Amino acid sequence: MFIFRFYFICFAGFIATLAFATGKESPTQSSEKREPPVATEDSITFSSVHVDEPYIALTFDDGPSATLTPKLLDLLAAHHIKATFFVIGENVAEHPEIVARAAREGHEIGNHSWSHPNLAKMSDDSVRSQLRRTDDVIRGATGNRPTLLRPPYGSITAREKRWIHDEFGYRIILWDVDPYDWKRPGPAVVRNRILKETHRGSIVLSHDIHPGTIEAMPSTLDALEAKGFKFVTVSELLRMATPPPSRAPHSAESISASATPSPAPTQQPSPSG
Ligand SMILES: [Zn+2]
Repeated sequence: MFIFRFYFICFAGFIATLAFATGKESPTQSSEKREPPVATEDSITFSSVHVDEPYIALTFDDGPSATLTPKLLDLLAAHHIKATFFVIGENVAEHPEIVARAAREGHEIGNHSWSHPNLAKMSDDSVRSQLRRTDDVIRGATGNRPTLLRPPYGSITAREKRWIHDEFGYRIILWDVDPYDWKRPGPAVVRNRILKETHRGSIVLSHDIHPGTIEAMPSTLDALEAKGFKFVTVSELLRMATPPPSRAPHSAESISASATPSPAPTQQPSPSG
């Protein structure tokens, strides 16, 4: 509303100046209405991204793990792959050097709360504390603030998304590929699920705290590469967003239209994430 008023005042000032300069009567109404830039839920929540090229984003949640995350970083480096790590604040506090290494090697670090609670069931103050502490510890480890939030279990209310976006500037990142690796189904199952579900623009969820997930990754990465996929961080993937062909390209919300809304009711937590 403030921004709208700002535009209105600017526009009114411009018209007044114009009227004074030309000595003519100013129009009483603008022929061109300017919509205030409003962040819609679609523009801040992503579970996949519409892209024209075969880019995907691998995401790893719940770390860092003292033993498994460094192994994964070695593997990603060997493949020249950049991924996104949604870290838990209290784990970062224990192993800031691992998160620092990940950031140094080009991976993106996102906020996954301090202790992995269900944000949808918490007070605003408790949520704020969870996010703030994690934001601070990530900045301490990497020198940079995160710009992405993945709510634990994918559980967050629409109202929370809005105020968190307003207060922290975060975009809310869910996923469209879920191998259910937290159930520890074995590396082959994890790999096969990821290969089956991944398409261009996918955001792939898994966890760098389960040995089977890390074991699955060498052959998973080989197979994804063989299929022609290229790997970018979530923020890079978002920057590549193009409007889906079904939407009118002139819309001011063309970028937000490329966001795929959450696949599941966001107030009911799934065990993943
Ligand atoms: Zn999680």
